[in-house]
Amino acid sequence: MLSLRPRAYSPRARRDDATLMHPSQADDDTLREKCAVFGIFGHAEAAAHTVLGLHALQHRGQEACGIVSCDGEQFHAHRALGQVGDTFSNPAVVAMLRGYAAIGHNRYATSGGTLLRNVQPLFADLDAGGFAIGHNGNLTNAYHLRRKLVRRGSLFQSTTDTEAIVHLMATSTANSIIDRMVDALMQVEGAYSIVALCRSAVIAVRDPLGVRPLVLGRLGDAHIVCSETCALDIIGATFLRDVEPGEMVVLDESGVHSYRPFPPRPSRFCVFEYIYFARPDSVIGDHSVYAARKRIGAELAREAPAGADVIVPVPDSGVPAAIGYAAESGLPFELGITRNHYVGRTFIEPTDQIRNLGVKLKHNANAALIDGKRVVLVDDSIVRGTTSRKIVQMVRQAGAREVHMRISSPPTRGPCFYGIDTPAKDELLAHQYSVEGMRREIGADSLAFISVDGLYRAMGKPARDPDAPAFCDACFTLDYPTALTDEESTEGQGELSFLAERTATGRRRKRSLA
Ligand code: AMP
Repeated sequence: MLSLRPRAYSPRARRDDATLMHPSQADDDTLREKCAVFGIFGHAEAAAHTVLGLHALQHRGQEACGIVSCDGEQFHAHRALGQVGDTFSNPAVVAMLRGYAAIGHNRYATSGGTLLRNVQPLFADLDAGGFAIGHNGNLTNAYHLRRKLVRRGSLFQSTTDTEAIVHLMATSTANSIIDRMVDALMQVEGAYSIVALCRSAVIAVRDPLGVRPLVLGRLGDAHIVCSETCALDIIGATFLRDVEPGEMVVLDESGVHSYRPFPPRPSRFCVFEYIYFARPDSVIGDHSVYAARKRIGAELAREAPAGADVIVPVPDSGVPAAIGYAAESGLPFELGITRNHYVGRTFIEPTDQIRNLGVKLKHNANAALIDGKRVVLVDDSIVRGTTSRKIVQMVRQAGAREVHMRISSPPTRGPCFYGIDTPAKDELLAHQYSVEGMRREIGADSLAFISVDGLYRAMGKPARDPDAPAFCDACFTLDYPTALTDEESTEGQGELSFLAERTATGRRRKRSLA
C-alpha cells in the first residue's frame, strides 16, 4: 500500500519513505528525463507503426514506454515499465490500441522516477476533450509552475515536469485544445519536443530554441512526427523536414498545418545529440549524424594528433569519430575493443557499483590488435571518468605500450537541464580536474578533447560566436540558453511532498543538482 507522508525537507531523507522535492535538493525522482516521441495520423495500423517507431528510438529511453491511440471517439492506452520489444510483443495489446491516430513515448527516467504513473504519454480528460501528451526535453521552471498550480487546487498524479503542461491546459481559459496548448507552453521554460493527441489530430510542438530534435515524415496518406529520422526509416516513411524551432504542426484529416505561436528566437539545437545521443543513421538539421561524428573525429585529429600505431574506438559511440580521426591522421583503424551488445548503456545502471561492473561486462580488449602498440583510444565523452579509467587499464593489460585518449567532445563541465541525463556538477571529472588532472585520473599517457571552436568548425560553423552560439553547448560552456528558474530559486523548499512508491527495480541513484 502506498502512503502519503508529507514532511519538512531533510537532506538525509531516504527516498523510500517520502520524497522531498526541490530539484536542487532532491537526489532522485527529479523532474528530469531524456526521451523519444512518435506520433502518426491517418493510418489504419497507427499503433503497430508506433510500436516500430518507438523500437527504432529505443536508444533515447529504455526504462518505460507507452502508446495512446484514438479511434475518433475513444482513446486507448497501454503503458509499462520496460522496453518496447517486451511491452508491445503481444499482438493482442497492439490490436487493442485501435484507431487511425496514435502517439508513443520512450522514457529514460534519470533516477528513482521509474514509476508507472510517470510513464508517458500522460492522458487527461480536459474540458475541451481527451488529450494525451508525450514529451522529450526538460522544463526548467516545472517546479515553480507546479507550486503555483497546486496552490490553485491542481492535483498532480506524477512527478514528471510534463504534467505541469497538462494542468496549465486544464486551467486555461482558451477554448480549443490547440489554443490551450499554446497558452500553456507560453508559460514554460526549457526544452520540449512534444507530440500530443486529441480526438481529431496529432499535434507536434518544438520549443523556440529547438533544443531537442523533432522531424516530420509521410507514409502514403499518413503523416508522422518523431524524434529522429531512423524512426521514419523503420516504417518506410519519407522524411519531409525538421519541425522548426518554435513551430507547432497539426496533423489531421485535412493534412499538415503549421503554426508559429511563439515569438521567434535564434535556434540552439543540442550539439551533444550530434556527438553522442542521436542514432548515427539519423539526419538532423540537414546533417547526417554519422557524417558529423566523422568530421568531429577528423577535426580532433588536426587539433590533437598523437604519435601512435593504431586508432581504436571505444565502441559503439566512439566509432564514427575514430574513423574520422584515423582517416585524417593516416593511421590504421582497428576494432581493438569488442563490445558485448547484450548489456545496456553504461549510464542506464544507476549505482556506481553496478556501473563499474557494467563496464567490465560490456567491453573486452582484443590483445591480438593491441599488444606492443601505441594506441589512440577515441571516445565521445568523459563524464564521471568511469568508462575511460576501465578502458585505459584494459588496453594496457592487453599489452599496449602507450595509451593516448582522444575525446570527440569538449570537457563536460556542467549538467544538462534540457533533458539529457548528466550527473551533478561535482561528479563530473572535468569539474574536479584540469585536463592534466583528468589524464592522471584515467591513467592515460596523454589526453585531449576537441575544442569548442573545433566542434563548431566540424559542424560547418567558422567558430563559436559567443553572442549568438548556433548550438546549445551549455554542458561544455556553462552558457545556458534559458532561465533556470527552478535551479536558481529556493522558494518554497519543503512545501511539496510527493507520494513515494517503491520503484519496480527498487533502484535509487545518488544525484543532486549543482
Ligand atoms: P563516464 O564513464 O561517466 O565517463 O561516461 C562516459 C561514457 O558514457 C562515454 O563513453 C559515453 O559514450 C557515455 N555517455 C555520455 N553521456 C551519456 C548520457 N547522457 N547517457 C548515457 N551515456 C552517456
